[in-house]
Amino acid sequence: MKPGGWVSVTGLGPGAEDLVTPEARAILAEATDIVGYGPYVARIPEREGQIRHASDNRVELERAALALSLAAEGRRAAVVSSGDPGVFAMASALFEAMEAGPEAWRNLEVRVVPGVTAMLAAAAAAGAPLGHDFCAINLSDNLKPFGLVLKRLRLAVEADFAMGLYNPRSKARPRQFAEVLTLLREICEPERLILFARAVSTPEQEIRVIPLREAAPEMADMRTVVLVGSSRTRRVGRFVYTPRSA
Ligand code: SAH
Repeated sequence: MKPGGWVSVTGLGPGAEDLVTPEARAILAEATDIVGYGPYVARIPEREGQIRHASDNRVELERAALALSLAAEGRRAAVVSSGDPGVFAMASALFEAMEAGPEAWRNLEVRVVPGVTAMLAAAAAAGAPLGHDFCAINLSDNLKPFGLVLKRLRLAVEADFAMGLYNPRSKARPRQFAEVLTLLREICEPERLILFARAVSTPEQEIRVIPLREAAPEMADMRTVVLVGSSRTRRVGRFVYTPRSA
């Protein structure tokens, strides 16, 4: 192990430059290496001498192992994620790679730099739909059985949480989100508010708030975070909010 190396797992926020924290910016300026999924690496201004390791999606563990080995060689590796790195992103992957890797990796300097996650940016754009108890569920079944996704949804509705649903629908998984909507219709009242927030904080931002009975699977894609209100979530003027008492 060479001295001076570190890994940071840094959140870039949902898209807008203004939502990149000063801490994230400072870390990225100090890094010798930027590691991440191509489109996220592309968001960072190029710096002379800084090496960019852009990779495909779905190779999180390899990416994390690369960053850890760079740090062990004395380099300063910034792994980047959109939003917050701890929300369905690279921070856990990094610790999984640490756990599976050489014992010495456990002594490396690692810093997780938080960011604004999509559900919070989306909620802020709409008002305060997550203003009382809420949870977040990743709808992707890449790393867990889809039955578990449906079970968590059912229990979250039973507990009357508002919810942020990440990775709702992709070309590889076109059908699951339709099943999610079917389940929600079975267990929630038809007027329950659902919010489709696409490309939040970017020029393509689109936010649609509708009652559950009008929701259709095509309203979501991989750039959409879906917020489902609790039974108390309602509209006031052009805003949506959940009261603090429930
Ligand atoms: N770490 C990220 C989430 C990664 S999972 C975060 O904290 O936001 C990828 C999913 O995040 C997407 O499928 C989408 O559901 C959501 N997402 C990320 N950026 C978004 C944005 N700008 N607008 C809407 N949803 C977004």
